[in-house]
Amino acid sequence: MVYDMIGDMVSEIKKLKMEKEAVVLAHNYQIGAVQDLADFVGDSLGLSYEARKTDKKMIVFCGVDFMAETAKIINPDKIVLLPNKYAQCPMAAMIDANSLTLFKKEHPDAAVVSYVNTTAEVKALSDVCCTSANAIKIVKEIPQEEVIFVPDVNLALYVQRFVKNKKIYPWPGYCYTHKGIKPDVIKELRNGYPDAPVVVHPECTPELIDIADKVSSTEGMIKYCRENDSHTFIIATETGMIHRLKKEIPDKDFIEIPNAICAAQKHVRLEDLYRSLVEEIYEVKIPDEIIDKARIPIDRMLEIGRGE
Ligand code: SF4
Repeated sequence: MVYDMIGDMVSEIKKLKMEKEAVVLAHNYQIGAVQDLADFVGDSLGLSYEARKTDKKMIVFCGVDFMAETAKIINPDKIVLLPNKYAQCPMAAMIDANSLTLFKKEHPDAAVVSYVNTTAEVKALSDVCCTSANAIKIVKEIPQEEVIFVPDVNLALYVQRFVKNKKIYPWPGYCYTHKGIKPDVIKELRNGYPDAPVVVHPECTPELIDIADKVSSTEGMIKYCRENDSHTFIIATETGMIHRLKKEIPDKDFIEIPNAICAAQKHVRLEDLYRSLVEEIYEVKIPDEIIDKARIPIDRMLEIGRGE
């Protein structure tokens, strides 16, 4: 009975997508059932590109608040929906426009590079955006020698390892999901899977990065696991990524990190996606002047393009 209800909901969602001329984008950390119904699944950069390319009238963004906001900034004339209003990234909330304005005064010669995990207001005060896939490339390519990097201190410290000729001033924000992955857990998993490379997201702490076999954005993880000769991989990022990896590389095994779960991403359930399409909620609204300003650093990022 329950399975029939889920099957009905899946059919209804497929039908509504057609009727409403909607494209459904899902981040790699979404639950498997939502990923399976999306037109595109990816990281925030890949989904930014899809948001820019789409000719659909409506974008339903199964992810968190800043991702849907980014899609709206890129597509101001389209309806952009976030299926659950509580899907809000705690890291993005760790810096606001006032704090960034004060930080900029402390470092007046520095360019502001903001991770896409920021609010539209913070983007509007930034020179260029980046994702974990292209952060090193972006910081290398901008002309300024001093860089304010917000909000993720761990990504900033990771980038600094590769850009020795520039001074990075990090904001002390962090992703609790990645910060919570401890070296002891990796050591324990390595005992069970001694031949498995450990693949680590750059939002993890420097201690974890030091013991990684590969540090990579989520899209980079797929490429690495596909091309590497190993059969089993320990994946140090949010557990939703395992669904995507298993689907794309079905002949290999992926070991998840216990409890590496982002509660914000898990707010979007099938029923939220269904209700979002029916009621056209929750529509992302951003003032025009913020859209105009926030679009500049996003466009700069999209011009510089993908990293590794
Ligand atoms: S995984 Fe971390 S950065 Fe991503 S949405 Fe969750 S809290 Fe934010």
